[in-house]
Amino acid sequence: MKILFDNKFYNSDYANNGASVPGRMESIMDVIGKERDFEIVRPRPADEGELLLAHSPHHVDSVKPNRRLYDMAILAAGSAIMAADIAYNGEPAFACIRPPGHHASRDSAWDYCVFCNMGIALLTLKQQKKITSAFVLDFDAHTGDGTKDVLADWKDCYILNPYADSSDEYLKEIQNVVKKIPAVDIVGVCAGFDSYEKDVGRKLATSDFYMIGDLMKRFSKRAANGRRFAILEGGYFLPDLGKNVLAFCHGFM
Ligand SMILES: [Zn+2]
Repeated sequence: MKILFDNKFYNSDYANNGASVPGRMESIMDVIGKERDFEIVRPRPADEGELLLAHSPHHVDSVKPNRRLYDMAILAAGSAIMAADIAYNGEPAFACIRPPGHHASRDSAWDYCVFCNMGIALLTLKQQKKITSAFVLDFDAHTGDGTKDVLADWKDCYILNPYADSSDEYLKEIQNVVKKIPAVDIVGVCAGFDSYEKDVGRKLATSDFYMIGDLMKRFSKRAANGRRFAILEGGYFLPDLGKNVLAFCHGFM
């Protein structure tokens, strides 16, 4: 499995929020960077044409004056595009990125998000005529309103933000939805680890992240020729963030 990561993501001075805190990316890469099963791939930034597949010129232009934020956000979006492309070519991939993107809509963004990384990645493959359908699971504690907005006009793109309260019900909800989907061209996962039992979501255990990864692996093998990729969204309980990402990746690969 390939991990999209650039050392620039360690820089925490691009913003001042929960996603940009110092040590957050280290808490992940210190754990998954040691794994021999993962190959680290250096991403490229997204270009403006790719951003404009998902966003209005107004939104893109509104970020540009903040150069540090813009440069980090286009590198995150480019990583998501590369992860999707690697998945399209048959190997699972995880983009370990910030800023996150699932609260970024076509014309605005809020919370810690800037550009809709998942939407940009999928719309790039769609524009290249590689895919015509997709499934997105967002297991962040917060609903991916931006992803839903950006992909709203695409009728063959299914998006699931599970809402069940207990971890058992949460996993069942995912199973029940995917079993009704016969086939899609690719599976994308908005991986938000703030749904962890010690994070703001207060719901999922480390083993649940493994189960979700495994569920998406099996679903993609049945319905999408195994094409699957994931991108980092939230996750703020730093002591366990690395092991939770690792658990998900082990299930997913
Ligand atoms: Zn969140």
